[in-house]
Amino acid sequence: MKKIAIIPGDGIGKEVMDAALRVIDSLGMDFEMVTLDAGDDALKEHGTALPEETLDKAKKSDAVLFGAAGETAAGVIIKLRQALKTYVNLRPAKSYPGVKCLYPDVDLVIVRENSECMYKGIEFEPEAGMSVAMRVITEKASKRIAEFAFKYARDNGRRKVSCIHKANVMKKTCGLFRDSCREVAKKYQDIEYDEYYVDAAAMFLVLDPKRFDVIVTTNLFGDILSDEAAGLVGGLGLLPSANIGDENAIFEPVHGSAPDIAGKGIANPSAMILSAAMMLEYLGYRDEAGQIEKALEHVLLEGKVTPDLGGNLSTMGMAEEIVRELHST
Ligand code: ATP
Repeated sequence: MKKIAIIPGDGIGKEVMDAALRVIDSLGMDFEMVTLDAGDDALKEHGTALPEETLDKAKKSDAVLFGAAGETAAGVIIKLRQALKTYVNLRPAKSYPGVKCLYPDVDLVIVRENSECMYKGIEFEPEAGMSVAMRVITEKASKRIAEFAFKYARDNGRRKVSCIHKANVMKKTCGLFRDSCREVAKKYQDIEYDEYYVDAAAMFLVLDPKRFDVIVTTNLFGDILSDEAAGLVGGLGLLPSANIGDENAIFEPVHGSAPDIAGKGIANPSAMILSAAMMLEYLGYRDEAGQIEKALEHVLLEGKVTPDLGGNLSTMGMAEEIVRELHST
């Protein structure tokens, strides 16, 4: 039986997790699930935001479903991604009919390098009044992520991979990343390949997002561009993500704990539910994943949604609509 580690975390993480579990439970699938502590509340209770037991059980699971962490996010999700060696962060951004957004026909995927760049967390103060952060880029990690992006494109019927970098300024680090992508591109003659500077890419994403299909980029640029992509398709409440490595995988919404709306029961559960669907697909349940996405699409089209999308349903109310739709045929 597949083992799933559930880490709800803080703020709306707990609320959207309840909603996603309601949807998964309704499918009557047999999983061994264990709920684990992490985040701000875990810090208060255990004196650490990421208790040993959580880390240990997450490593031993087939997949981790993660909600969101608050102030302790860096010590929780970034540590988890590193400890579980999930070197890919896959972030699809897609517009759904019925959802008010800037572009009704966006369907792109950001493949973000997940193990290095500014997120190595190497910062120091060589002297008073000066702070330094180190950006680490290696050929190994850059080729590995480029390989994933091209293979993903090929396996999923995508036409193009765009490498996003800033090699005109960061000649060594971004230069190595771009050259690694170029090298891998040569092996995939059936997939188109192009390159953008990150500032131009940020502009084109707003002006003409359809020029992008699969984007491959470094850790920090990928983080920023995926929030921008969320803005194109209707907001953070809609974007799921997968962190994938050779042994482990973590599925989580792109959004954080959203303290401004936490506790009100109005968080949009779509990103978490789509993350759960990505997890099912990863575990080999492609049909069930497809059914969840179809049910969500229907609910979005009918406007049975939370306030961020202009509706008046609660988080669980929207989940119940998805469950009803899942079992309507
Ligand atoms: P992080 O730094 O971890 O990304 P953050 O607090 O900066 O977290 P988010 O929590 O991702 O930012 O969210 C930013 C804002 O977007 C929230 O304050 C909230 O207003 C809105 N938001 C995010 N997720 C949702 C959601 N699921 N439903 C509705 N609104 C959301």
